[in-house]
Amino acid sequence: MENALVLKNIKKKYVSLKGETLAIKDINLAIKPDEFVSIVGPSGCGKSTLLSIINGLISPDNGSVYINNQKISGISIDIGYMLQEDYLFEWRTVYKNVRLGLEIKNMINKNTDNLIYKLLESYGLKDFAEHYPAELSGGMRQRVALARTLATNPAILLLDEPFSSLDYQTKLTLEEEMDKILKKEKKTVVLVTHDIAEAISMGDRIIVLSKRPAFIKKIVDIDFEDNLTPIEKRNKKKFQYYFEIIWKELDINV
Ligand code: ADP
Ligand code: MG
Repeated sequence: MENALVLKNIKKKYVSLKGETLAIKDINLAIKPDEFVSIVGPSGCGKSTLLSIINGLISPDNGSVYINNQKISGISIDIGYMLQEDYLFEWRTVYKNVRLGLEIKNMINKNTDNLIYKLLESYGLKDFAEHYPAELSGGMRQRVALARTLATNPAILLLDEPFSSLDYQTKLTLEEEMDKILKKEKKTVVLVTHDIAEAISMGDRIIVLSKRPAFIKKIVDIDFEDNLTPIEKRNKKKFQYYFEIIWKELDINV
């Protein structure tokens, strides 16, 4: 099967007046269509840098990114990107924030209204279409951000710690919702997180990164019975088993 996303020999260093920081040493990775890959690694190891490279926001010093076997440089329309902070525009309504994703990618047409209302409905936001972000809870704001990201129907979804600013209950709820949405929509997903439990409950495969400079220390295939939700997975014996394997590999010094 063709790969949806391939990273080949990615290397990145940041240069500043204080010197050089090697963020990514050498990363090779191939991700299949519809696969959900979770990337875990210690804080500051280079996870966000890697996603920015995939998204074309920064260019690597070495190596290339391929989408559907095509080498890409710069921002790709096939990719949707969601971050820890929701970056909602406070002066725009929920409806107009979701519309923004389509505006930026030049995808407004006569079906836009319809599409947005459908999205808002399935994300439980229909009654809030004319509300402003300040009137919403943190979880609702992240749902708006997700709707905005998925409105353009990207084949690949990059998630950079999207739940880490939320309280535990909201985070679990959003994981369940996102899991449901992604099962329906069939996307290739790369989730970056420092939360091992989140990585295991959402992912088909876990990539464990080393401390900075990042390289791949270990890859763990996650295999639960079909159709379990993230919360159901958290209650399985196997979950603890995966947790321990990954915990041992993570270099976390406190
Ligand atoms: P993570 O997302 O895993 O926490 P990052 O990719 O944000 O890590 O950062 C990796 C390393 O690169 C860190 O040491 C960070 O300080 C450094 N870094 C990130 N962005 C920049 C930048 N724009 N300029 C210089 N150094 C940076
Ligand atoms: Mg980060």
